[in-house]
Amino acid sequence: MAEYLGLTEEETSARYWRVKDGCVQMKIVDGHCVFYKDGCSVHQGRPWRCAQWPLHPSILIDPVNLETIQESCPGIDRNISYQEFCRIFE
Ligand code: SF4
Repeated sequence: MAEYLGLTEEETSARYWRVKDGCVQMKIVDGHCVFYKDGCSVHQGRPWRCAQWPLHPSILIDPVNLETIQESCPGIDRNISYQEFCRIFE
């Protein structure tokens, strides 16, 4: 991200990140990620976690998370069982 923005890691951190419990998160502006402007404005430099979408690890914790992601991502088979999805994902 820092390279994409043309900033140092320290500058990027100071401007755009917040660190909570040892995890780096994007700062929130108007209720959403600071980089969200009609889509991700740093798509080529987005964080690793964002690049994982829609294969988010939270799916493995709660079947409701899979249902939620299935509703928004046309790339996930809506007919696959939770158990089968987790088996493939793991
Ligand atoms: S993909 Fe990640 S960095 Fe980009 S707007 Fe969404 S939360 Fe922010």
